Amino acid sequence: MRVTFWGTRGSIPAPGRATIRYGGNTSCVEVRSDNGTLVICDSGTGIRELGLHLMATSEPVRGHLLFSHTHWDHIQGWPFFTPALAKGNEFTLHAVASAQVSLETALANQMQYTYFPITLDEMNADITFEEIREGTFSIDGVKITPHRLNHTTDCLGFRIEADGRTLVYASDTEPHGFDGRAQRAKGGGIGPELAHEADRAFAEFVEGADLLVMDAQYTDAEYVEKRGWGHSTTNYATDVAVLGGVARMALFHHDPTHSDAAVDSIVKHARKRAAAYHSGVEIYGAAEGLSIPL
Ligand SMILES: [Zn+2]
Ligand SMILES: [Zn+2]
Repeated sequence: MRVTFWGTRGSIPAPGRATIRYGGNTSCVEVRSDNGTLVICDSGTGIRELGLHLMATSEPVRGHLLFSHTHWDHIQGWPFFTPALAKGNEFTLHAVASAQVSLETALANQMQYTYFPITLDEMNADITFEEIREGTFSIDGVKITPHRLNHTTDCLGFRIEADGRTLVYASDTEPHGFDGRAQRAKGGGIGPELAHEADRAFAEFVEGADLLVMDAQYTDAEYVEKRGWGHSTTNYATDVAVLGGVARMALFHHDPTHSDAAVDSIVKHARKRAAAYHSGVEIYGAAEGLSIPL
């Protein structure tokens, strides 16, 4: 399995000199299984560049898109995904069943003539919509398990398993209860402690992942003012990764106000916290263009 980051930013694109290393495009992650199955997590503005890459490298283009939810930063790139315009290409779009507005309606709405010159109906690829309910499902040899995240709207994380490897994509989720300091004594040292049952269930969901792509939009200091906005903090992300025993974590959904230097310091902070737990988890900042074989 190979994982490639096409968009790593949260909320709104943030291009410019200050974000050149981690990137300015919003959420989009490409997953390729060894047998060639294409799974795309979210269609933020990063999907435009992915689309150009796919058009240049494969014909026809076939794949599955998993939508965490329909906030702008996760759907806004869709109208610019050129493979969806071309006849002969095939895409299945998966999203949570219980959302207030279906994915199809949300995508069609953002392509009304008021906003965009081409409607969803005018996209010529074969596009199918699938509603995700509870439980695991399979697509072309890739096993997907959804998990409800704690966001301001219906939102799913995905555990994606193929080729004996596991990726967890968890964008846009907030701790259910976390004061940023929760730690317990552990054999002469300290360990992470998640007091809320739903946070422990989330740590179980990510358990043993080879890579966790994790919302870490706010520093713990920023979170004090942003509680209830649906996003995680550096400390929470680190504690979930350590408790879940994941091998690697990519901090994701960078705040648009965070420069490359700010993300560097967030990564450094997370590594320091994990080291204090004597955890072997490898932590880095998700960066546009970064491609990782699992
Ligand atoms: Zn988002
Ligand atoms: Zn969101």
